[in-house]
Amino acid sequence: MILVKDIYSNFAVLFYSNKIMSIKVSNITKIYGEQKALDSVSFEIIPGEVVGLLGPNGAGKSTMMKIITCFIPPTSGDVSVYGYDILEQSIEVRKKVGYLPENNPLYLDMYVREYLEFIAGIHKLGDKTKQRIDKMIEITGLEVERKKKIGALSKGFRQRVGLAQALIHDPEVLILDEPTSGLDPNQIVDIRELIKNIGKEKTVMLSTHIMQEVEAICNRAIIINNGILVADDLTTNLSHLNLNKNILTVEFDKPFDKELIIKISGVKQIRQKENNTWQIETAGNIDIRQDIFKFAVDHSISVLTMHKEEVKLEKVFQELTKK
Ligand code: ADP
Ligand code: MG
Repeated sequence: MILVKDIYSNFAVLFYSNKIMSIKVSNITKIYGEQKALDSVSFEIIPGEVVGLLGPNGAGKSTMMKIITCFIPPTSGDVSVYGYDILEQSIEVRKKVGYLPENNPLYLDMYVREYLEFIAGIHKLGDKTKQRIDKMIEITGLEVERKKKIGALSKGFRQRVGLAQALIHDPEVLILDEPTSGLDPNQIVDIRELIKNIGKEKTVMLSTHIMQEVEAICNRAIIINNGILVADDLTTNLSHLNLNKNILTVEFDKPFDKELIIKISGVKQIRQKENNTWQIETAGNIDIRQDIFKFAVDHSISVLTMHKEEVKLEKVFQELTKK
């Protein structure tokens, strides 16, 4: 006997696998002149996912985003958004997609509201315009700054305006090209929080060259290097690879027994760089600076300098491409 429930779930599986992919990228290649920016890249994004497109500068992230948002055509391959083809049905695709381009180009002479009205006009929102603008101002926290000209806003608030324009037509998919680049640490935290909230209701794809950013916001990471997809996995799986680390470079005033430092909880490795200068490695989410100071005090050693370095994606690539 076949239960209605089974038919339904089979149908759902079929429907899901064949139809409702938020974004389906198949064998996308893009060649600019002689430069191959993307080389047969394929991936699929399910509705509701928050995906980080990760790669160093020049990897092809912006190119991929411009193709998905119908700004440039691919050299070969297919992309569809909710089943709509980017070349054949670009009007439908643009309705489904909100896009924050790299460097967030804005009209600095326009007032916040005026600019959002302008964007609402492009999307032909008609009598919904006021209601949508009010909602965007509320969601993106622009209330306090809404009467200013965009040119008078801080970079963090400009980025909120960028998010507001990307969301104004209530798209299902949000494509954000390096949304936190150039922001100060507090602004980064705010914008990440905002994106996380938006991600509860939308499919989000954001690009970044910072692994930690993906860990902070995304459930999945697609990593590209030189136009080639090198990894596509859940963020939790990638962090099991222990790709993230912090390296503390510490200069002490005198020698000591290195075994004492290895005993500090969280320390993975320690290397001598120069006489009394050491590199101490921990996992990316661990900060042992206070422990190092305490260690020094306990052993009557002075810390002369201390520098913390987060290991960035380039090194992640080394690890990934070694295999
Ligand atoms: P990312 O956003 O990851 O930094 P891009 O997609 O901007 O990378 O660029 C990928 C590669 O394609 C780079 O080598 C870049 O120089 C090249 N590229 C990008 N846009 C153009 C263009 N309009 N003309 C020629 N080369 C380009
Ligand atoms: Mg880019």
